[in-house]
Amino acid sequence: MAERKHVLGVYGPGSNHWVGDGFPVRNLFPSNGLSRQVDPFLMLDYAGPSYFPPSMEPKGVGEHPHRGFETVTIAYQGAVDHRDSGGNSGTIFPGDVQWMTAASGVVHEEKHEREFAKKGGTFEMVQLWVNLPKAQKMSSPRYQGITNEQIPVVDLGGGSKARIIAGELDGVKGPAKTFTAVNVFDVRLAAGSRVELNLPDGHNSSLVLLKGDVLLNGAEKLEGEAQMAVLGPEGGAVLLEAAADSVLLVLTGEPIGEPVASYGPFVMNTKAEIMQAMADYQAGKMGHLV
Ligand code: MN
Repeated sequence: MAERKHVLGVYGPGSNHWVGDGFPVRNLFPSNGLSRQVDPFLMLDYAGPSYFPPSMEPKGVGEHPHRGFETVTIAYQGAVDHRDSGGNSGTIFPGDVQWMTAASGVVHEEKHEREFAKKGGTFEMVQLWVNLPKAQKMSSPRYQGITNEQIPVVDLGGGSKARIIAGELDGVKGPAKTFTAVNVFDVRLAAGSRVELNLPDGHNSSLVLLKGDVLLNGAEKLEGEAQMAVLGPEGGAVLLEAAADSVLLVLTGEPIGEPVASYGPFVMNTKAEIMQAMADYQAGKMGHLV
């Protein structure tokens, strides 16, 4: 068996804020000073779980741009409506994942789905930003609407399972097309289960606990809500022992290792490219909602 990955650090939310009026988020990174350690991932916001009373006007974020990376939205409770300048639109229901490649530029809006907003209820989702290598930052945008049914499940034993959104676990491949080697697994651990999770040697790896109680490698503990462990790239596995039913998002990726210049919704390699992104957005070159 390969040596286990080392736990480099355990973190709680580094910042709490609202994204628009629909997403009360706890940010796990880049707050907490995490960037190089989580490359190729750029940002992770955990929205909710929060109760929203009935509202005739869906809450969320209006028209805004992105360039240079991908936004991945994973719905746990409630639903999100999406509409973008590429003419793509869709609703992300619990279990579904939207993998949007902004690349050269997309303008979109993200709102609570109309029926959910009308009825009110508990809202819970994750938004993850995945960086693109320099060579793909100005490629064409792409939209992958991935439904719950398209996501294969790996039985981890003892009532535990992993949904493979991207990448591969134990020979089972996820549906998301990616530009670099990444794994995104939605892992549900049953109380009392003990799982040796195989992760690639050389990948930066993180375990984000949405809720639960998990002991890592018999030593470090993730407990409560919105806790994250950063693991080193070396080694090939991590031992998970759940003391309670737990929901974990497992992220691994081959580091891109290029310079990062970011400003709000734009993530490029240089400051000049950020200035260009702002100018292109202002000039309407990223399109408009259709
Ligand atoms: Mn957005």
